[in-house]
Amino acid sequence: MAMKAVDGQRGRLVRLVQQLEGCVVVETNSSHAIHIPAASIHATFTLQGGFLIAKDFTTSKSLMAISEFLANGLDECLPVDARSVCFEWFERSLDISLAHSKTREAVYAWHRAETKLASWASVQRAWRVSVQRLWEQALVHDFTYHCPCGNQGRKTSFTNHFRSAHLSFLFSSTQLRRRC
Ligand SMILES: [Zn+2]
Repeated sequence: MAMKAVDGQRGRLVRLVQQLEGCVVVETNSSHAIHIPAASIHATFTLQGGFLIAKDFTTSKSLMAISEFLANGLDECLPVDARSVCFEWFERSLDISLAHSKTREAVYAWHRAETKLASWASVQRAWRVSVQRLWEQALVHDFTYHCPCGNQGRKTSFTNHFRSAHLSFLFSSTQLRRRC
């Protein structure tokens, strides 16, 4: 009975392949391993008895995925604890990206989810302080980037612009006063 249900789902998936953009169906066996990039929607069907071993990991490419997730509000239907995990994952991915000098990618990911990040930072002090430290370490040097927001003045360095326009919500009012 269960197998019949699975076969029915499998048949439906095969029929959908032609209609879904970028859809791929792969049949694997115990000698195979498959890498599914972050943010890829996927389904697994076990065709015969056995078990599936999955290993989740975070790379410098995970940041944009979690950023899109947050920017699209997908965390908002989750309980508070689960939402917290989403922002912790963002922080961990940001740390990995910045540690691997993927600063440009980190800037884009930050910019994409900035509204959500600012909202979270306003009520989660520990997260705010922790993320602030990550950026402080990453922005010790200036970069010749042009900010994706399009509002960076021609005579303003990227680092100064990014700090004041996109990171100010990470700083307390006392810290901001000290900077002025
Ligand atoms: Zn900007």
